[in-house]
Amino acid sequence: MGVDREAPVLIGPIESMMRWARGHSMWPLTFGTACCAIEMMTVGSARYDTDRLGIFFRASPRQSDCMIVAGTINLKMAPRVKLLYEQIAAPKYVIAMGSCAVSGGPFADGYNVVNGVDSIIPVDVYLPGCPPRPEALIDALLLLMTRNAAGELTAAQRWAAREPA
Ligand code: SF4
Repeated sequence: MGVDREAPVLIGPIESMMRWARGHSMWPLTFGTACCAIEMMTVGSARYDTDRLGIFFRASPRQSDCMIVAGTINLKMAPRVKLLYEQIAAPKYVIAMGSCAVSGGPFADGYNVVNGVDSIIPVDVYLPGCPPRPEALIDALLLLMTRNAAGELTAAQRWAAREPA
């Protein structure tokens, strides 16, 4: 990307400009299923002021590019999680927040608990802890933004590449 000295316009491949923009913003879906969601809500509070980082929580999957799975997912909730994920436009990202979303956590032996949300949807970042601190979630969001800026494939794109056409 560069500046044309004759005409003061910014020129560059549209792809690199979009990567730059995506590398400076992340709009997670406001969605939680259990106690980890309290930590996620804290991230959205004035104390952390994530607006300064380009992180804005949205109430609709159609305005989001990131899903934070914050909490235990049971079998009854799993189809709703998948539906919300599918309503987010690509490219989209998923953070499995807390040991419940990563692997079922303390409820892994329960008859109705999904042992890891990656059995339903592709996961980009696994965030361990019970619960992870708000700073850890902010770090995960910043990691995703760094990967965007570098043009790395999303977990969804890697899943799609593995599936037969
Ligand atoms: S990982 Fe811990 S804090 Fe998070 S939803 Fe599960 S039990 Fe609650």
